[in-house]
Amino acid sequence: MLDCAIIGGGPAGLTAGLYTTRGGLKNVVMFEMGMPGGQITQSSEIENYPGFFEHGKTGMDFMDGWQEQCFHFGLKHEMKKVDRVSKVDDHFVITLEGGEEFEAKTAIVCTGSTPKRAGVKGEDEFFGRGVSTCATCDGFFYKNKKVAVLGGGDTALEEAHYLSNICSEVYVIHRRDQFRASPSTVERVKKIPNIKFITDTIVEEILGDNMGVTGVKLKNKKTEEKSELDISGIFVFVGHNVNNAVLKNEDGSFICEVNEQGQIVVDLSMKTSVEGLFVAGDIRIEAPKQVVSAAGDGAVAGLQVISYIQEHV
Ligand code: FAD
Ligand code: NAP
Repeated sequence: MLDCAIIGGGPAGLTAGLYTTRGGLKNVVMFEMGMPGGQITQSSEIENYPGFFEHGKTGMDFMDGWQEQCFHFGLKHEMKKVDRVSKVDDHFVITLEGGEEFEAKTAIVCTGSTPKRAGVKGEDEFFGRGVSTCATCDGFFYKNKKVAVLGGGDTALEEAHYLSNICSEVYVIHRRDQFRASPSTVERVKKIPNIKFITDTIVEEILGDNMGVTGVKLKNKKTEEKSELDISGIFVFVGHNVNNAVLKNEDGSFICEVNEQGQIVVDLSMKTSVEGLFVAGDIRIEAPKQVVSAAGDGAVAGLQVISYIQEHV
């Protein structure tokens, strides 16, 4: 039986692996369906992780040493997709795609979340070259430039506010004239002089050239009027898919407490409502969706697993 099964090998999973193995657990396996590193490996540059400030280094470069460090302390990697984590009596059963099963005393689920795409023409082509889903990560690349934000929820409006401190002009493009964001946020953001609202409008196409995004083609849904807007970047905030499928029972219910958005409810120790089951990183409630916080969660969960095993097993 494994001491701990870690599901997902992004910053949260790798850090959980580091803390559990370096903390003395001998039998820890990280199930990561791809190469370890997580979603940050898609980033062209990372400049907000404390202590890492090397111009031109990609997310892939950044994550390079993480797995080596974990493997040095004894973390094992199974490059397999996990289908389900279930609790049977006092332990967990990890069922892999294909049916193979592992038993574990504890589990830390770190499968992250995936920003939704809007499905607009040009979105995939220019992703990472003017199309972004992370203002904290990429906003600085558009210093004193015009950008657009797509969406009308709390994330879109809060990130528009964040971008307004960096960019010269921020256009919030929303498909309706009513916002899903809380009224107080809408009022606050409407008062910011360099944020302009374009409502009842859809983005028909994201335009660009070899250098990246140059503009968007817009269509007003009420008047059918078409227009073009010159911008250097567009931030797409149309919701997130939480990668919580491994925590579902066969009937679709969850094995632990989950909120309305499908995020896993945890306390400050990353404990879920199920004893011995921890989650860390973007999958949890209130996640800031940053590498530094995902890694912090992984460390907390790793330390909690060590205590749990000392107390219970
Ligand atoms: P993830 O990094 O999402 O890792 C989850 C891992 O779980 C993945 O590797 C996935 O393959 C694996 N997995 C999922 N399901 C299964 C399964 N069923 N079985 C096995 N494995 C599974 N943050 C910053 O702090 N600074 C930045 O500059 C920055 N830039 C970003 C740029 C981009 C383009 C993106 C997409 C994100 C960026 N972020 C940035 C956000 C940051 O990457 C995330 O907050 C962070 O990676 C979350 O870590 P995590 O470990 O929770 O999840
Ligand atoms: P969200 O509330 O689901 O909003 C998504 C927005 O994107 C909606 O305005 C939606 O339009 C729009 N949209 C969806 N698909 C689209 C598409 N294909 N093209 C164009 N627009 C599209 O997502 P979120 O803003 O990420 O928030 C998620 C949850 O977290 C919410 O419950 C939110 O309240 C919460 N949150 C809270 C805070 C806070 O409390 N401070 C901060 C951030 C997030 P429609 O409105 O027309 O559907």
